[in-house]
Amino acid sequence: MRQRLYDTLNYFQKIYSKIYSNNLRVLAYHTINDSSEFEKQIKYLKENFNIIDLDILEGHLFKNKKLPSKPLLITFDDGDISVYNNGLSLFTKYNIPSILFVITSLINTTKPFWWDQIRHHIDGEKGESKSWEVKHWSNKQRITYIEKLILESPKAPLNAEQLSSSQLNDLNKSGMEIGNHSSTHPMFDQCETEEIKDELQTSISCLKDLGFHYNVFAYPNGNYDNSSEQELVNSGIKMAFLFDHKINKRKVDPLRISRIRVDSNTNLKEFKVKVSGFHSYIYHNFRKNS
Ligand SMILES: [Zn+2]
Repeated sequence: MRQRLYDTLNYFQKIYSKIYSNNLRVLAYHTINDSSEFEKQIKYLKENFNIIDLDILEGHLFKNKKLPSKPLLITFDDGDISVYNNGLSLFTKYNIPSILFVITSLINTTKPFWWDQIRHHIDGEKGESKSWEVKHWSNKQRITYIEKLILESPKAPLNAEQLSSSQLNDLNKSGMEIGNHSSTHPMFDQCETEEIKDELQTSISCLKDLGFHYNVFAYPNGNYDNSSEQELVNSGIKMAFLFDHKINKRKVDPLRISRIRVDSNTNLKEFKVKVSGFHSYIYHNFRKNS
């Protein structure tokens, strides 16, 4: 059923892709769990788009340089270890540029992502839905809740292998730029101003020390508001990426760059529809009407 739906959507995505072919598409991945599907996706992208790097995007945003036709930028959020384990050889083999946005307090540690900690201590669907629910709580509430959950749980706290600075350097050598995804991944629209200042100061200083792009930022979960945007500007952030499942308008706002969510294990039929932006067109229009 799902596949038949994507057959139909693929017919329309070709028309949609043509109309919006020169609008910048930015893809947002998280993990590379299926390297063979991911390789098919990369081949498709290389054949059908001009994959740009951060330099080209900067030139366009700040020096008015023209983007190539069919421009597409690949990004990854969070710094999951699978990106290194399953991606490194492919980035080198296909010589594709990308940006990885890392959570700086996790580099060189065995601290898990906080949402995985919740799923570890609360089993099944309940844990899954709780990890989403807390994104709507104030940042302080979320932190207190997780601390209490770990303290009162009969299970030992979760550990997870995180990227080391030398692995980040390896990825960087393979053509991946390393950017800022905050220090601890809070929802910026749920933070006090002081918390945002602290997140930015800490992550900027860490990435500066490592020699990476501290001023290129992806909002955790894509959550932002006017006051967090102002704090980004005050901290010297030049570019910020959202998570709004849209292709970009012809004039791109450097602090509100749209991204389309994709997954490495999506089959090619579905992937083509998502990359075209047609999927998000349906998604946003359906949401407006519901
Ligand atoms: Zn994230």
